[in-house]
Amino acid sequence: MNNRVFNFSAGPAVLPLEVLVEAQAEFLNYQQTGMSILETSHRSKAYEAINAEAEANMKELLGIGDNYRVLFVQGGASTQFAMIPMNFLSPGRTADYILTGAWSEKALKEAKLFGTTHVAATTAEGNYKRIPNMDEIQLSDNPAYVHITSNNTIFGTQWNELPSFGQVPLIADMSSDILNKPFNAENFALIYAGAQKNLGPSGVTVVIIRKDLLENNPKTIPAMMRYETHSKNDSLYNTPPAFSVYMLNLVLRWLKGQGGLVGIGQRNTLKAGLVYDTIDQSGGFYRGHADLGSRSLMNVTFRLPNEDLEKTFAKEAEQAGLVGLKGHRSVGGLRASIYNAMPVAGCQGLKDFMIEFQRKNG
Ligand SMILES: *Cc1c(COP(=O)(O)O)cnc(C)c1O
Repeated sequence: MNNRVFNFSAGPAVLPLEVLVEAQAEFLNYQQTGMSILETSHRSKAYEAINAEAEANMKELLGIGDNYRVLFVQGGASTQFAMIPMNFLSPGRTADYILTGAWSEKALKEAKLFGTTHVAATTAEGNYKRIPNMDEIQLSDNPAYVHITSNNTIFGTQWNELPSFGQVPLIADMSSDILNKPFNAENFALIYAGAQKNLGPSGVTVVIIRKDLLENNPKTIPAMMRYETHSKNDSLYNTPPAFSVYMLNLVLRWLKGQGGLVGIGQRNTLKAGLVYDTIDQSGGFYRGHADLGSRSLMNVTFRLPNEDLEKTFAKEAEQAGLVGLKGHRSVGGLRASIYNAMPVAGCQGLKDFMIEFQRKNG
């Protein structure tokens, strides 16, 4: 294992080493079936058990009851951008979007294809360096739903306190921070997340949906685009991304072993603190992109005094076994993605590297 690096990539991203080792151990012969899970029918008892356990584990971790379903679908979070308005934005209604970054902009763009939308708040001014305050949010009259992005992967901001709008269904794209710390999942009508950042490999998208949202949806949209189809068929309407769901379930088991959301939340706070403290104590050598109150536990975005130093930083970090730190072009600089599976040692290693880099170049 000595040649494994610390992988700070935004996604697909680091997975728990324990999970990779476990999957490797049963790769050729899954649970005495004599075949790999990759070769197993999705109609088999073995796969049905995985599918059911993954739903149960997700509900247990989120602390939600039988009024929710957990669906495993394909097409990434990007397909959810369209499925949500297709299912819930009926004629004569308005869908409200709170814009906190590039992903929420993309979600809004898809909704516009299907009906009337309203921007309830945006922090585009200042290049999305913060989350709006509650008093900046102006909902439309009787919206069909409000859509938020809980963590802005590109800009490194996060709703540190998740909002609630009473009876209005709240929908969240949690692709980059799902299960990162305790929160009240029952405030949400629908949560979705592409798995490849904080849950597992790419190929599966998790949709957590309150059952009342499965009623009265239009029958004029394709079967694959209807939440009702996937719910009625326990996510087995067509061939699911079976290996991805299997891996996701191993990650969920691992999370339970970390003390669930309380345990992982404490560890994530500690990890992010190591990096943010280094930025704050650098006397301005490192500058965070996000405002203090909007900082993300998952993606730490920061700049150096100039672009040449940023390039050198990324290159030398990689040589030191800290890979994937180059920032997204819309923010520039560096981005450390430190999802649930990033060990504390990775953040400590980054901190040590940052201090040494500043000593040499500051
Ligand atoms: C990565 C990301 C997406 C896009 O996910 P895909 O599964 O690639 O479609 C959407 N929203 C957020 C917040 C993301 O981080």
